[in-house]
Amino acid sequence: MQKTIGYAATNNKSPLAPFHFERRNPLPTDVQIEILFCGVCHSDIHQVRNEWGNSTFPMVPGHEIVGTVIHVGSEVTKFKIGDKVGVGCMVGSCEVCPDCQENLEQYCNLAEFTYNSPDKHNGGTNYGGYSKSIVVNQDFVLHISNKLNLAAAAPLLCAGITTYSPLKHWNVGRGDKVGVVGLGGLGHMAIKFAHAFGAHVVLFTTSPNKTGDAKRLGANEVVISKNPEEMAQHVASFDFILNTVAAPHNLDAYTALLKRDGTLCLVGVPDQPHPSPAIGNLIFKRRNIAGSLIGGIKETQEMLDFCAAHAITSDIEIIPIQQINEAYERVLKSEVKYRFVIDLASLQDQ
Ligand code: NAP
Ligand code: ZN
Repeated sequence: MQKTIGYAATNNKSPLAPFHFERRNPLPTDVQIEILFCGVCHSDIHQVRNEWGNSTFPMVPGHEIVGTVIHVGSEVTKFKIGDKVGVGCMVGSCEVCPDCQENLEQYCNLAEFTYNSPDKHNGGTNYGGYSKSIVVNQDFVLHISNKLNLAAAAPLLCAGITTYSPLKHWNVGRGDKVGVVGLGGLGHMAIKFAHAFGAHVVLFTTSPNKTGDAKRLGANEVVISKNPEEMAQHVASFDFILNTVAAPHNLDAYTALLKRDGTLCLVGVPDQPHPSPAIGNLIFKRRNIAGSLIGGIKETQEMLDFCAAHAITSDIEIIPIQQINEAYERVLKSEVKYRFVIDLASLQDQ
């Protein structure tokens, strides 16, 4: 076992604080990574506060991990020491079920998540990226191009793939009118990707002061979702709407904006259910409400390569890990612009 240090929550009310723990010794197929940066996802906050009811403590959050390979096991073929790499939300899956065979490991019933998930090698629980190092099976490690700024690439490992995957699955492209609901970590990546795919992009926000940023990021129009007159101008006009909001809200306001056969895809995971959608909104125009979970490893690599080719990264605020608890409060106030990224150089053995 190898000693390392991270920041952990010890219960659902405690602030994150320094935590010493051990990683497994690298297996022949493992890569050991010195973590340089880790993004701060709203999912970290949901889980630290046990809002999904499945948290185990102590918990070291973090699933937007980038760093440098410092050791490779004897059977590792995909990476060498010194490579810049990433790890997202998953570190394992059964690798044989139909979902895994179709490169959709995120839907595998045995998917092993980066933290707050049982560690199938060691027993116990996996610990995430708010830490100095991690050991991961090479099949769940991603290559990061030297063209990308490493800190700004970290959020691609979750916010990036979670928005790229549904936009691809629903074939968003030129000629489509696409909505993005919420301008936070996921929302700002959704705007960048939908714009890069050639769609006409409309941001729905509760924060009028984000209008200028949304246009700079690639939105063609911005709608203040609390204003019913602005919403009414878009009735039955969207091909696809990606909803990233982390709180329960009225979905009917968005299903009404879809064309016949349009889809409202939910990626936000609030702690309480949304009010029931009005069935009439759905059946009279055969509209769909769907969901989507991160993306498979193959598609995550495709997304990272697309970002390198199109110079796409996240808009970030870098913080030392000692500011993580204040950063959470700012995310909860929808004040992050647009992703916090922890600089792990700030985490000294203490
Ligand atoms: P975030 O940075 O906090 O962004 C969420 C945005 O939603 C806010 O910036 C805000 O944008 C808007 N919002 C917040 N409260 C709202 C309310 N009460 N009503 C309407 N809009 C509100 O969060 P994130 O990191 O992007 O994550 C968003 C959600 O996706 C979380 O629930 C997270 O757990 C989930 N998630 C899911 C997956 C998946 O695989 N499905 C992956 C990652 C994260 P405006 O200021 O523009 O209104
Ligand atoms: Zn995430």
